[in-house]
Amino acid sequence: MAAETDERTNPAPLDDVREEAEGCTRCDLYKNATQTVFGEGGSEARVVFVGEQPGDKEDIEGRPFVGPAGRLFDTILEEAGIDRKKTYVTNAVKHFKFEPRGKRRIHSKPNAGEIRACRWWLDQELTAIRPDVAVALGATAARALVGKPVPVTKLRGTTVESAEGVPVFITVHPSSLLRIPDREARHAERARFAEEMRKVKKLM
Ligand code: SF4
Repeated sequence: MAAETDERTNPAPLDDVREEAEGCTRCDLYKNATQTVFGEGGSEARVVFVGEQPGDKEDIEGRPFVGPAGRLFDTILEEAGIDRKKTYVTNAVKHFKFEPRGKRRIHSKPNAGEIRACRWWLDQELTAIRPDVAVALGATAARALVGKPVPVTKLRGTTVESAEGVPVFITVHPSSLLRIPDREARHAERARFAEEMRKVKKLM
């Protein structure tokens, strides 16, 4: 407990935390994934975006938000006028969880124990950065940030407090926008998400 208090009053620099996370074995997910995918951005970031976990491409490249959802996310942030230099992007869970299916690796949702174990790193990222706002992109991120299950559909577009007092803006994960089959519905959801990013900009 004393060590934890010291970490909060005197947070470890992000680079040190990143290096330490490379060897993490706090849950079993490190066993099958390629590498730890830590957050990206500087400690001067004013907003921290939190996704669920790295995808197949992120796992291979070792960087968050570089797959198709990440590219869509980049475009929408630019449209919302959010300067990427003032952002930090990370995931609630830092190893890729998947089910092998032939040659493919199919995304598998992290469970409550894995989210809790990986919160060790998310907490340290937030403590080192102290952002104006954290944005929960989807239910796993919201659960990690708030410390309990969050009804994302009901609270989407609103801000709640995290366990540590950081305001948490609730929205969906950009990958969900890509999965909407109907073109019109997809465009409507994209516009809603872009509007939410404009709200986030006002919180920074
Ligand atoms: Fe550690 Fe998180 Fe990876 Fe689990 S998922 S091994 S807690 S870095």
